[in-house]
Amino acid sequence: MSFVQELDHLPFEELEAAALSSNDDSVSRALSRSALGGLDLHDFAALISPAAGKRLEDLARVAHALTVQRFGRTIQLFAPLYVSNECVSTCAYCGFSRPNQVSRLTLSPKDVLEEARLLLGQGFRHILLVSGDHPKKVSTSYLEEVIGLLHPIVPSISLEVATFPEEDYRRLASAGVEGVVVYQETYKRDTYSAVHLKGPKRNFQWRLDTPERAARAGMRRIGIGVLLGLANWMRDALALVAHARYLMRRCWQSFLTVSVPRLRPAAGGFVPLHSIGDREFVQLVCSLRLALPEAGIVLSTRERPELRDGLLRLGVTHMSAGSRTMPGGYKGQVYAEPQFELEDHRTPAEMAERVRALGYDPVWKDWEAVLHGYDHC
Ligand code: SF4
Repeated sequence: MSFVQELDHLPFEELEAAALSSNDDSVSRALSRSALGGLDLHDFAALISPAAGKRLEDLARVAHALTVQRFGRTIQLFAPLYVSNECVSTCAYCGFSRPNQVSRLTLSPKDVLEEARLLLGQGFRHILLVSGDHPKKVSTSYLEEVIGLLHPIVPSISLEVATFPEEDYRRLASAGVEGVVVYQETYKRDTYSAVHLKGPKRNFQWRLDTPERAARAGMRRIGIGVLLGLANWMRDALALVAHARYLMRRCWQSFLTVSVPRLRPAAGGFVPLHSIGDREFVQLVCSLRLALPEAGIVLSTRERPELRDGLLRLGVTHMSAGSRTMPGGYKGQVYAEPQFELEDHRTPAEMAERVRALGYDPVWKDWEAVLHGYDHC
């Protein structure tokens, strides 16, 4: 069964009702089962329930213990490198959305190399290339050219760009890309249609199938996520966990990360349709760790420093630092509009120092190129 079929058969109403009617006993049961790795979606519903919200310290304690057990006291640092903010899609919540009258720019491959060198100088070895969705400006051939320049000096390159057919992902994997990040944003079809108004991103199923296509093509890191603020956060969290579990079964040779970014102010002035407070956000991160003990959890600079520092001990394994969300942002000599506003403005060195002060090791690189080369799902 494909994931879209699985998604269509998930009993969301029953699971949401279970979450809202969970009591202390169901939360205790889910907590004890999480230690055995036997959580099902009903248990996850109990963990994200208002009843579990009253036992946040219990969730945090188990989430911390599981994270240290599986990942040690390490935080992998990475940097997004925006290569373009040109986009042919109209997404209501995004600063790069086509109708927005903002300064647009696509970096030349040489300019991308310059940006990458600045990031290497700051210590980064994991770089995530990011762009809007523009099939002509940021094509597979353009990316191959960029990767050709970066691959000899950047140990780990991932992409968060337009979605591609499997054959294109094979070309990009051959060129040296090892990871693909593709957030579904929301798994609720009607909300998805309401905010993705025009362009390639409007195709819900194509996007939903993308992580599996990328893994089949040989990508060894796959990142999925939801954008909190579009739909009810509990419902999207349930779907995200179901999707993560499906991918871990089907594409077990790829390392999976999940992320739950919250909507930030951006050009276009989109107002979030749903909100999730800090306490619920912490509860969600802890619950994701309990439900997905083997998955990486990514936290971006969208969140403010104190919250990031707290979450670092409760399940998060990957963090961006010193981010710029516009092309040319690290060099700073050209002006293009950022995708959204950030909250954590600490430099990579300050972030690494803070990670150390909290008793963790900042990891800049965890993968040797020599280990590449095996079959995927
Ligand atoms: S979310 Fe992506 S596809 Fe949509 S407007 Fe923004 S950059 Fe373009």
